[in-house]
Amino acid sequence: MTAGRTKRQEKAKAAARELDSSRKVSILWLRDVLRVLCRKRTATRKEIITETGLNTASLSHTIKYLSRHGTVLKVGSLESEAGRRREVYNLNAEAAFFLALDFEQRLRFALLNLAGDIRGHWELPLEWGEAPDMERILQGFQRLLRTLEPHQVRRVVALGISYSGMLDGQGRLTAVNLGLRNFPFVSELNEKMKSLVSPDLAIFLEPDRHCAMWAERWLGQAREHRNSILLFSESGIGCGLCVDGKPVEGWRNLAGEIGHITVSADPNLHCKCGKQGCLETVASSPAIVRHYLALTGQRNRKERAVTALEVYDKARGGDGSARTVVDRAVEGMALALSHVIHLINPGIIILGDDFAGPEDYLIPQLRAKLENLVLPELMDGIQIVASHLGPDMRLRGAGALALRKSLEAPELLTKICSPVLPHSKR
Ligand SMILES: [Zn+2]
Repeated sequence: MTAGRTKRQEKAKAAARELDSSRKVSILWLRDVLRVLCRKRTATRKEIITETGLNTASLSHTIKYLSRHGTVLKVGSLESEAGRRREVYNLNAEAAFFLALDFEQRLRFALLNLAGDIRGHWELPLEWGEAPDMERILQGFQRLLRTLEPHQVRRVVALGISYSGMLDGQGRLTAVNLGLRNFPFVSELNEKMKSLVSPDLAIFLEPDRHCAMWAERWLGQAREHRNSILLFSESGIGCGLCVDGKPVEGWRNLAGEIGHITVSADPNLHCKCGKQGCLETVASSPAIVRHYLALTGQRNRKERAVTALEVYDKARGGDGSARTVVDRAVEGMALALSHVIHLINPGIIILGDDFAGPEDYLIPQLRAKLENLVLPELMDGIQIVASHLGPDMRLRGAGALALRKSLEAPELLTKICSPVLPHSKR
């Protein structure tokens, strides 16, 4: 770890020296300016200075460099209140591309540009317990790469992967909800993707909750909030946390395991983790369905007979059993969230996946319960909203991961900023 870090630091210093001596531009300035433009897409010179803290001369050098290379385009100027014109810059979204994979019950693939737009999208169902066929995964990426021109394929910088479950030190994936144990994911994928795209393709992997939080920071509603909570439900419950502008990952990359916070003393609520009374046992989508079928005397029906979203709909329509189920779920969510709110003082709570669908019904109830559990000073002004990113949240998050890590790595940042070929040379 230390040797790797030292090597990376040396590489960064070397890249910064190279840029400094030849172009009077520090790689740190490039990174700071691109971070702002990738998030805002368009920004005035003043906005960039405010967000980066760069002085006018440093910003001028950086903007000149990026404009000359075609990474940033000047799009005009605005009249300011003081009567001076403010220059406006636009990110060239096609200056770099990223591949993304959401490794869940469906394998979802995407190609994103530098502004986070999904340029291509494809998906592949995965049977429970079935190890995915690596050749089919490669075909998924090949389909996306075919939508690019050859000179654009050379600008594919990195692949970001969002996964549920845990990766061990050898890159093997264990995902209980997918029925996978010790699947040798990283080693196989690494080699094959590099031969498919390019030997210097970088590959980054993060748990789905961290990726989803990055998507909200880059493209969603957490953009303007330094402290936020993202809570989402599908097969389990995921939670992304952002503190002081940075998503929290944890010592072992396990921060945000809110689904296994104990919210009930009922010994009959068995969780797949081995404990009892975890939040997942009352509020995950499968738990909502199971509880509803049990209350309505349909215990023996297959869980697929009804979906969690249908149970929320029934509750909204006045169905007593559905209301009991949703009440218990919201109580558990409020209890678990109340502890997190006291710890990190968020400005916004974002609900995603199956929690986003019934927002009009869920959010007022959740807020009412939270107001009984949280200090008024911490609840004052807090926003509770549904994510706008829809089912692509984690996929976009995987792209956001690839972008963020690429901006941090000098050799990848240099690739993003390399000259975009003029049209005639394509
Ligand atoms: Zn649990």
